[in-house]
Amino acid sequence: MVTLNAAVTDQNPIGWRFDNTYSRLPEGLFAPAKPAKVEAPRVVILNHRLADELGLDLGGLSPEAAAALFAGQDLPSGSQPIAQAYAGHQYGGFTMLGDGRAILLGEHRTPSGDLVDIQLKGAGRTQYSRRGDGRAALGPMLREYIISEAMFALGIPTTRSLAVVTTGEAVFRESRLQGAILTRVAASHIRVGTFEYLSAKQDESNLRVLADYTIDRHYAELADSPNKYLEFFRAAMDRQAALIARWQLVGFIHGVMNTDNMAISGETIDYGPCAFMNVYRPETVFSSIDHGGRYAYGNQPAIAQWNLARFAETLLPLFAPEQEQAIAMATEVLGQFPARFEHYWLTGMRAKLGLLSAEAGDLELVQSLLNWMQKSGADFTNTFRDLSADESPTGDRYADADFLAWYAQWQLRLSRESRPSTAAHAAMRSVNPAVIPRNHRVEEALAAAERNDNLSVLHRLLATLATPYEAGADAAAYREPPLDDGSYQTFCGT
Ligand code: AMP
Ligand code: MG
Repeated sequence: MVTLNAAVTDQNPIGWRFDNTYSRLPEGLFAPAKPAKVEAPRVVILNHRLADELGLDLGGLSPEAAAALFAGQDLPSGSQPIAQAYAGHQYGGFTMLGDGRAILLGEHRTPSGDLVDIQLKGAGRTQYSRRGDGRAALGPMLREYIISEAMFALGIPTTRSLAVVTTGEAVFRESRLQGAILTRVAASHIRVGTFEYLSAKQDESNLRVLADYTIDRHYAELADSPNKYLEFFRAAMDRQAALIARWQLVGFIHGVMNTDNMAISGETIDYGPCAFMNVYRPETVFSSIDHGGRYAYGNQPAIAQWNLARFAETLLPLFAPEQEQAIAMATEVLGQFPARFEHYWLTGMRAKLGLLSAEAGDLELVQSLLNWMQKSGADFTNTFRDLSADESPTGDRYADADFLAWYAQWQLRLSRESRPSTAAHAAMRSVNPAVIPRNHRVEEALAAAERNDNLSVLHRLLATLATPYEAGADAAAYREPPLDDGSYQTFCGT
């Protein structure tokens, strides 16, 4: 692989180190694309902390230059913009897709040597736009910015958000909205759907090229394994098990776990109708179009396994020459998903309850707390945070006999730990967030930004979400669950 070492020069004052490895893959996996000219780009928000991590210096950019850059009007030096082809199972049905409104500018090499995709979402039509306008609206792009940065601060693998700009043009959905572009930074945008795309075309040779590229980029340690494609599948399966466990442990509901929205890197990707659960209810769904609850909170592990089965199907020809043998190999690995998921989930739940050791009754202890939360309508996040305090939780809800019985059991369990309970509580506070992006707080920030051009609400929210495990004075107001959670709906934002 070629490593560019572009110097920071007058032509490249920001410090981009661009490469375009994806566009050197076989034709057909992408199409050249060009960000559309836009009327009057204007910066809404820049993520300076992320820019620093990426080795980018945005400080010297004028507001106009930053707007032109993140609206795709001035391309980073070395960029060869493309739209990526992919397919996907959407709500279970297969479709050929592709970046219809996202343009990959290329890959940037970070100071730590990682290669990251730099993508503009909402940058105009591409060869894959079908009937879409290629555009995005300000609300959904800011929503992705807020939630992805919150997930990052929670320590959960995710794509990042570097900038949001408005285009000065209107986009038309149910109503007239401000057009906007999000700059997304990702380990890559290779999805289960990218493999499905080649598989649907029965293009086995390019499938192997894509698998090798993906292994090289995300699973380099497997390059020399004897059955590297099967090991690749096993490792990707494991990363998904770990990722979905992290989601479950904070109450994150992705909302649209189609196979085109599952990244092989193991990052959370495509923040559309996602939202955080308040009251613990496994059937919680916020997405306005998810009528059957396919992507409900409690279904996420099973859906991940379903998506991984679709992924395995694409790789069958690489596993073994005989299909029957390949299927047996895939089935064996896929069958490990529930146990891998439970391993990550239970490890995480033990940490949420301050437990370092493992005992056979732990699963039951966790389940009985969850059952109580569900029965009593307790808030998932706040319950765990309340349990993390040195004082025992107070208030009417906790006076409940079932809770007190559970609490006594937990105290007994904690007494068998090797550390004092104050140490356990401190550890719990580092894994049980005080603040999550509460739906009403996100909406409030978006409404202020959209309607009044007032960004202070957004900035305050982002500042609180940046340190989710700290419960400082400013966090208190952000810990309140919404008054009416039941009727909240999210939209795909397309
Ligand atoms: P999503 O629901 O954001 O994961 O998008 C599903 C598919 O629809 C992807 O292939 C998108 O590129 C495409 N798409 C979504 N919105 C638009 C749009 N406004 N114009 C063109 N394509 C779109
Ligand atoms: Mg998508």
